[in-house]
Amino acid sequence: MEIVFASNNTHKLHEIAAILGPAFKLKSLTDIGCHEDIPEPWPSLEENALAKARFVYERFGFNCFADDTGLEVEALDGKPGVLSARYAGPGKDSRDNMLKLLDELKGTDNRRARFRTVIALIMDGKEHLFEGIVEGHIIYAPQGTGGFGYDPVFVPVGYDQTFGELPADLKNTISHRYRAIDKLVRFLKEK
Ligand code: IMP
Repeated sequence: MEIVFASNNTHKLHEIAAILGPAFKLKSLTDIGCHEDIPEPWPSLEENALAKARFVYERFGFNCFADDTGLEVEALDGKPGVLSARYAGPGKDSRDNMLKLLDELKGTDNRRARFRTVIALIMDGKEHLFEGIVEGHIIYAPQGTGGFGYDPVFVPVGYDQTFGELPADLKNTISHRYRAIDKLVRFLKEK
């Protein structure tokens, strides 16, 4: 089965292709000749993922899925959430985002947080959503150099090291993204 992942992130494409196995032919946006930056201006992960999948389905006619992820911090009413990638503002990088987060949490004992990934699939015109969550907490200063984004400040439940310190292959079996992909793959394999 041929299916498009509305992304050009090679790391994610490889991760998903490996879980899908050879019965599925995974295509990227570049593979189908889509070179536009698909807008994701909506206030929820669900709406952004659906918008990206709809864009590809409507313009290119392929069965397609798209993802969106956010870090949701309890004491900040779910922020940075959908704004995770650009929390510190335009032109800032993930270190700036992390430092802004730590600053916002200064003096706050409630450090509970979770990563949440939403995958939207459009298959034969029908829409499906899959969610993956990993619960954890935010520490007080970055630790570890692995991973990306907020990994150095996030400790998943059941561990005492950050995603930036834990081995990548361990992260990849407990992460929000893995959990959402796993649900998607189970659904596709049943089809
Ligand atoms: P995306 O939807 O996968 O592009 O993720 C949006 C933003 O969420 C990223 O730019 C990162 O700041 C953050 N993020 C997503 N996944 C992770 C992760 O696994 N670790 C740390 N940060 C992440």
